[in-house]
Amino acid sequence: MTQKPVLTKKLTGAQIRQSFLDYFAAHGHTIVPSASLVPGNDPTLLFTNSGMVQFKEVFLGTDHRPYTRAADSQKCMRVSGKHNDLEDVGNDNIHHTFFEMLGNWSFGDYYKAEAISWAWELLTEVWGLPKQRMWTTCFQDEKGDIPRDDEAADAWRRQPGLDPSHVLFFGRKDNFWEMAETGPCGPDSELHFDLGPEYCDKAGVPGHVCRVNGDCKRFVELWNLVFIQYNRTSPTDLTLLPRKHVDTGMGLDRVVSILQGVDSNYKTDLFSPILDAIQRLAGQTDAQREANFTPYRVIADHARAAAFLIGDGVIPGNNGRNYVCRMVIRRAARFGGKLGFTQPFLAGVAEAVIDNYGAAYPELTKFRTTILQTLTQEEERFQRTVDVGVANLNDLLDLLTKQNVKTVSGGDAFNLYATFGLPLEITRDIARERGFSVDEPGFVRAREAHAEASRSEIATIEGDMAGSYRQVLHDLQAASKLGPDGVEYDPYNEMELEEPVLALIQDGQRVSGVKAGEKVEVVVGQSCFYIEGGGQVADTGFIAHYAPGSDEPLWEIEIREAIRPAAGLIVHRGTVTSGAPREGDLAWVSVDIERRWDVMRNHTATHLLQAELREVLGDHVRQAGSHVTPDRLRFDFTHQGMLTQEQLDQVTRLVNEAILANYPVEAEHMAREAAVAGGAMALFGEKYGAVVRTIRIGEPEPFSFELCGGTHVLETADVGPFIITTEEAAAAGIRRIEAVTGRAAHELIQKRLGALGNVSTYLKARPEEVDRKVLMFMDELQSAQKEIVRLRRELAQVELDNLLTKIENIGGVPVLAGAVKNVDADTLREMTDWFRAQVPSGVVALGSVFDNRPNFVVAVTDDLVKRGLDAAKIVKAVAKVVGGGGGGKPSLAQAGGKDPSRVNEALAQVKSLVQASLSH
Ligand SMILES: [Zn+2]
Ligand SMILES: [Zn+2]
Repeated sequence: MTQKPVLTKKLTGAQIRQSFLDYFAAHGHTIVPSASLVPGNDPTLLFTNSGMVQFKEVFLGTDHRPYTRAADSQKCMRVSGKHNDLEDVGNDNIHHTFFEMLGNWSFGDYYKAEAISWAWELLTEVWGLPKQRMWTTCFQDEKGDIPRDDEAADAWRRQPGLDPSHVLFFGRKDNFWEMAETGPCGPDSELHFDLGPEYCDKAGVPGHVCRVNGDCKRFVELWNLVFIQYNRTSPTDLTLLPRKHVDTGMGLDRVVSILQGVDSNYKTDLFSPILDAIQRLAGQTDAQREANFTPYRVIADHARAAAFLIGDGVIPGNNGRNYVCRMVIRRAARFGGKLGFTQPFLAGVAEAVIDNYGAAYPELTKFRTTILQTLTQEEERFQRTVDVGVANLNDLLDLLTKQNVKTVSGGDAFNLYATFGLPLEITRDIARERGFSVDEPGFVRAREAHAEASRSEIATIEGDMAGSYRQVLHDLQAASKLGPDGVEYDPYNEMELEEPVLALIQDGQRVSGVKAGEKVEVVVGQSCFYIEGGGQVADTGFIAHYAPGSDEPLWEIEIREAIRPAAGLIVHRGTVTSGAPREGDLAWVSVDIERRWDVMRNHTATHLLQAELREVLGDHVRQAGSHVTPDRLRFDFTHQGMLTQEQLDQVTRLVNEAILANYPVEAEHMAREAAVAGGAMALFGEKYGAVVRTIRIGEPEPFSFELCGGTHVLETADVGPFIITTEEAAAAGIRRIEAVTGRAAHELIQKRLGALGNVSTYLKARPEEVDRKVLMFMDELQSAQKEIVRLRRELAQVELDNLLTKIENIGGVPVLAGAVKNVDADTLREMTDWFRAQVPSGVVALGSVFDNRPNFVVAVTDDLVKRGLDAAKIVKAVAKVVGGGGGGKPSLAQAGGKDPSRVNEALAQVKSLVQASLSH
């Protein structure tokens, strides 16, 4: 059912993406780069999932941009929480984990008329989609509370060639957009395309009518235009916004499939090079590719998603986004098994992704090696996991065989999946081979119960913050205590300031006053506290109220951290240590300054460390996470294999040289493009707005230049000494360095010099000589120990000679049983050899206490073994007396015990044991 391409000259996917951007650039839009898949400013969101994410705060009025019109092609992921599309991916032609969203925005600039006529012109004139097949929808409130969007409907009807009967109205579910329970919202308008009656998959169903927003596949939504004109303050109250905004989104994969006239996103040239690569690697024919289209689709979609995730710094792991990255790689690897892949193959597929998308998203090309290596490592790791899972499954099947059960329960199958990552398909195949079945409905129930539990967790996180904190912010703004931007955030200049208390919050509710001992959150008009971010911990400090002229506080609150629970609102969390704070009191707000300096030293040192690691190890070194606290810094980076001592020494020396050179550390705000063009390293998790903060170190050319929102020392010499304390593996392909600076480094130096001083006193040697002296002592100790062993052996020989005179004859058999002093088990064994060398037929039992533990060795010559004497039996009976046990062969056995005082008593039994054995 492939349709005829709607264009005479077929555009490639890349050309369609570019022509969208060119069209809006020609209409005065600033083309902005895609934000990272990791949202920098929204902790409730796992991934950037639409074009508006990077502009959310602009719509909330808490952030501004130097332009009022923007357009971009945004990288998006939808795989978690309410957008759980993963299980659908591969089963049809339209669901993806990763996708690109084309969008144009107006921030208080143009509105419906322009947005609608540009959308119409681009689709029908520039791209040439047939006008008679276009349909549009507008908002009409089924409850009658919100006015109908006639402004949009009229604008549509004015478009040349649009059939006025194709302008339809729908209610809140389809055509009203809200960001959250409160906040900006408004009607939206959608453009739908009629693929033609042959696309209807419900044609035979009685009563079915093909229609827009219907249940068949004939009409597809192409473009959604959101008109943000209201602010919702409660479930029933909307106020008109003074500045109205436009937010549009169009999925690139779908529009390309329509323009290229194919019936599946996977048949566009966005995907075909990736599918070709899979086919080539699998060595399959076209017919085989057609027959296995589901695995092809899963692998292509997931390899694309994984390449983009790793390109944005998300590596496979066990939590959050890292888990999603692991999940898509493993699902792709699993489907690879269906195509016959037995070795890692995804790097080969990702090459095609990088080649096809690298021009539009340069980070893919830049991190090519990391992407390919990470994929291969994760596939290898997955294979090992499956091996462990299969071993556990086999144990389970053994157990079920014993219990005569022929079905693996759904719960057990799910546990294998949840604990070892063993996919149901593999469990089923192996179970079937061994004659078992698997309760698959039970597996689905167990998985759903598990998913339900994690979903409600996500819902709680998303739900709680929004309401109450936004209400506090809204009330303070309504009372003109806070401006439209909310609380001013400036941790970069002063560390102390004086401000009236605007609000006190307990359990999300505003209170007028609090008492000593209580927990509270304090809002003031501006904050100098650093909010945790970019790996740097939050500041601590205090907020206090003083009577004029007094330096004893009337009340004081110890602040544990500052957080931003809603855009525009900063709260300082702490506990009242004295007095009774009240709203309106003038407060002295102060960061713990010494602690902050420790943190700043460590943060600046982290930048220096990164620069010098790149210098020493190479440009593949890339930040994979960092954690900066007052007592140390931790830096994770991409690198294969342990660093040598020489490399660590060289990095340490270079960092310390950069510190001593006392370079200024300069913070500058600039356009992101300029920063990246100037070589700024794009850090994982940073917020990508139009204007970014950069940190530059080094003169005249900076050797460190990074995007960073953290706080830094003023000049590198402020960092003080830098010492690496550990270097270790953090994950596959990721190394971790921990280091100390400043006061912590001084402390470490003093502690180690102190220990060295003690050693040098004990050794009576100068500190520079202690290592040589210690080696010398170790040598001496070793020879002394050898000498002791030799002397013990000599003594043992003398002792045995003495014992030989005490051999007794038991029933015609020479028996020697005796204790020797301070001999280990090895020597005891050797002594029985000497005995056998001198006494051709006999029994010897020796005991000794060594290191305060009794040991016994019993030996029986071979002729007597044939007569039924058993050394193991004898030694067991002997050891029992001292509370121990042992064993060995009939000719030689040994044992240990606990009670050293009863060795003689134990040995006294030997004669009667021999006697008893002989009389059998
Ligand atoms: Zn239909
Ligand atoms: Zn930084």
